[in-house]
Amino acid sequence: MALITKAIKGTQDFLPSDIYKYQFLEQTVRDIAEKFGFREIRTPVFEHTELFQRGVGETTDVVQKEMYTFDDKGGRSITLRPEGTAGVARAFLEHGLFNDALPQKFCYLTNCYRYEKPQAGRWREFQQFGVEIMGAAAPAADAEIISLANEIFSFLGVEEIRLELNSIGCPDCRKQYHAALRDYFAAHSDDLCGTCRERLEKNPMRLLDCKVPTCREIGKNAPVILDYLCPDCADHFDKVKRYLDAMEIPFTVNPRIVRGLDYYTRTVFEFVADTIGAQGTVCGGGRYDGLIEELGGPHTPSLGFGMGTGRLLMLLESQGIELPAPTGCDLYIAPMGEAASFRAAALTAALRANGVHAQTDVVGRSLKAQMKYADKIGAKYTLVLGDNELAEGKANLKDMDSGETSAVALDGLEDSFMELLVQRATASLAETLDLDPGEVDLSALI
Ligand code: ATP
Ligand code: MG
Repeated sequence: MALITKAIKGTQDFLPSDIYKYQFLEQTVRDIAEKFGFREIRTPVFEHTELFQRGVGETTDVVQKEMYTFDDKGGRSITLRPEGTAGVARAFLEHGLFNDALPQKFCYLTNCYRYEKPQAGRWREFQQFGVEIMGAAAPAADAEIISLANEIFSFLGVEEIRLELNSIGCPDCRKQYHAALRDYFAAHSDDLCGTCRERLEKNPMRLLDCKVPTCREIGKNAPVILDYLCPDCADHFDKVKRYLDAMEIPFTVNPRIVRGLDYYTRTVFEFVADTIGAQGTVCGGGRYDGLIEELGGPHTPSLGFGMGTGRLLMLLESQGIELPAPTGCDLYIAPMGEAASFRAAALTAALRANGVHAQTDVVGRSLKAQMKYADKIGAKYTLVLGDNELAEGKANLKDMDSGETSAVALDGLEDSFMELLVQRATASLAETLDLDPGEVDLSALI
């Protein structure tokens, strides 16, 4: 029994009382991405395992340790997506999108799955907001996606976050660099973890991304790629920095960032916060000029980032930033008796059709119990409907904050109540803006 009443380790429920925060974040990132010309793409939650092995890279932690891989009933090896880019790249190829006008700009909000050790800011199921630009080689594109992430943080009012930037070059510059890394790490080989010892030959840069403390310590003094960039990569990096300067986006160069996925080339970056503990990277991304080709497509320089919405929310909460809560129930109609219940249902329907958040009794409760419920759900107004009210065609509307009541006609209630809500909003806006209510006109918004 215990098993079926407990969510699987590393997964979470998002309850109605909290969901508005995620909805607000989702709406915010979608709106900002749209302003930048990114269009939403949705790809399947599972793909052929080989896509991630090829796309993310055989020697990455993600592929070696973290994937949810299983054989389906047809004997195919399937993997739940651990990240968003590989699936988008596959769709880009499958649908021949590279034949359309380039660059193509995609965005998505998707759940990802990684078998990791759950801890604060690290789950086995987590949501990522991601963007990808496919078919853009120039450094202006790198600066554009960084500025998109930056715009999200600014819009949300985040002040304490820093952008760390690096270039990890291209396969050309890496030849020499890999040799230097192998020499360096080989001298420390006895102290490396087993996985790193194995990866040393095949992909020595992966050692710089290892999370094992001893490997991290050794990595601190390793040679840095910035000293090995070829002239083209150095020029590209220089221009990315100049674009960021031009857009007044502050950054620091951190030559130790390599990112956890093999497909990155040239620019890599992270937005890191110190206020949310060890999992401080809220957004990570970079350029992946070789990925589309690696998957069998034409040479298509591309880039993108992934931002964990769970970590983004932790960041906002850690910095005392509150997201707007929904205003909730405007009017609760409490009927007494069957005839009143039918009229209450009709009134509620008319109010809802007019845009009012209205509720009524669907349980058959006593008036007292209904009023208690109306109070619990935070109804702004209540209206009691009994035989007398039905006969007279009017009822008492009660303001639950002030306790004041006023008589309202039942006919046309959907319009008169809407008017009342507008008056209320006008008064509150006028107070916030320190204006006379006559100077605020909300009618245009309705
Ligand atoms: P980390 O170094 O924290 O493991 P990563 O390099 O594996 O991160 P990416 O693959 O670049 O992360 O994913 C981009 C973003 O997705 C991260 O910056 C983070 O916000 C989020 N993310 C990654 N893994 C998790 C996870 N297990 N739980 C929650 N969010 C995650
Ligand atoms: Mg990771």
